[in-house]
Amino acid sequence: MLIDSHAHVDVKDFDPDRDLVLSKCQITVVNAGVDLKSNLLSIEMSKVYRNVIPAVGLHPEYVERADQELEETLRLIDLVPLISEVGLDFFWIKEEPLRAKQIQVLNRFMEVGEKQGKALIIHSRGGLKKIMEMVSSYKVRFAIHAFEGSVKDAKRIEEMGGFISVPPILVRDKGRMEVVRNVSEDSLLTETDSPFMGPDRTRNEPCNVKITLQRISEIKGINLIELEEKIENNFRRLLGPYSFSGANLTNR
Ligand SMILES: [Zn+2]
Repeated sequence: MLIDSHAHVDVKDFDPDRDLVLSKCQITVVNAGVDLKSNLLSIEMSKVYRNVIPAVGLHPEYVERADQELEETLRLIDLVPLISEVGLDFFWIKEEPLRAKQIQVLNRFMEVGEKQGKALIIHSRGGLKKIMEMVSSYKVRFAIHAFEGSVKDAKRIEEMGGFISVPPILVRDKGRMEVVRNVSEDSLLTETDSPFMGPDRTRNEPCNVKITLQRISEIKGINLIELEEKIENNFRRLLGPYSFSGANLTNR
């Protein structure tokens, strides 16, 4: 089973062909909500598509919406097995008060993640040091999605039991190839962050996970089928007590 551990298939780019996109390969897709509206769409999608796992969060770039949307978003986590998209973005968000707010919001998600035993799939741009400090003060399972940091940072995530999630942009990114070479396959996940982060500049889609797997298999010299099983297994470890069989998720 292919695993896309982080995608945004609810966005309008997929309105013309969502059915096809989600059925043209055997894949389980985590659809990450970025705000209240997309959290609700994500949950709705998981009722229509048996291979979609809904995740609920508030994207750090939308931190200004927290006052209106955070409390209801936190309540929606009751309905889903994973928390995403959450994290810190100090690349786009430069204002100190907003950065502080991002940290506050992420703390709230970590609290719920710890309490409910639900993993966080975390966005990190420029905020990894702080994120690592935060995850070390909670008992949570986590992945860093679309990891873009150094080998050293990747090893630190690995040491802390976190997962490093790799998008298809890997095929045109030497830094990410280096990271893949240097961490254990037991710490890797595949994702697409669709419609972004594609192997080329066109719309990315979940089945492109195949491209990522192919490249990881070349870099690490692991048989493709074995690697696919390994990544699925890693994903099950991230999910923890929540399980899915084939494309059918049972989260209750
Ligand atoms: Zn994302």
